[in-house]
Amino acid sequence: MSARPFEAVIFDCDGVLVDSEILGLDASADYLRRHGFSWTREDLVRLFTGFRDDVFAAKLTEAYRALHGKTPAPDFFEGLVETRRARRHLLKPVPDAETALKALQEGERPFAVASSSRTEYLTGKMQRVGLYDLAAPHVYSADLVAHGKPAPDIFLYAADRLNVEPEACLVIEDSANGVRAGLAAGMTVWGFLGGGHVFAGHGERLLEAGAHDLVEDFKAFLSRLDGASPDPQR
Ligand SMILES: [Mg+2]
Repeated sequence: MSARPFEAVIFDCDGVLVDSEILGLDASADYLRRHGFSWTREDLVRLFTGFRDDVFAAKLTEAYRALHGKTPAPDFFEGLVETRRARRHLLKPVPDAETALKALQEGERPFAVASSSRTEYLTGKMQRVGLYDLAAPHVYSADLVAHGKPAPDIFLYAADRLNVEPEACLVIEDSANGVRAGLAAGMTVWGFLGGGHVFAGHGERLLEAGAHDLVEDFKAFLSRLDGASPDPQR
């Protein structure tokens, strides 16, 4: 059995490269509590991370209707967005993200970013934490494709731009929704647990979603990558 290495790595952005999912999480839970929801921050991560804006808004609208029997006013969403936006100056990279990207670059292993975040936000976040130039031009938003995750579109788009077959790509994802998208693209998916929003049971949920393996952080990712190869069984 000759092991063929992964030819490229495709990273999710939020909660993988940029530690954005934890940002404003307590404040968001407080905000939603003032609007009648009893979700904890763990619930918010479980229910809402990894979705494109439109899907997130639809899911939250549905929950609002179920609770209040009416559609939320526009300022309900604006208030929630502002809760996070007010904290964006606190945004940090996930520990060792830069080291990981530089190691791939030095090893001449291509990589891309494939995110549910809108292009303008994605670029801004990557720039703010100093990772944009390392990954550019291969920084791709689900704005570019018809369907957001869990559809495979954005991962297939990124693989195409890297000129690598999907089966030879390794996806690094922190959300169950993103894991499903990577699997639908025919890629190997490792669940990533290095973000600040990873609470008890997170890894189990990623495995339930179908992740082939879990990595605790970028040190584990780098040590595991050499010698790892696409599994023909999956
Ligand atoms: Mg994510």
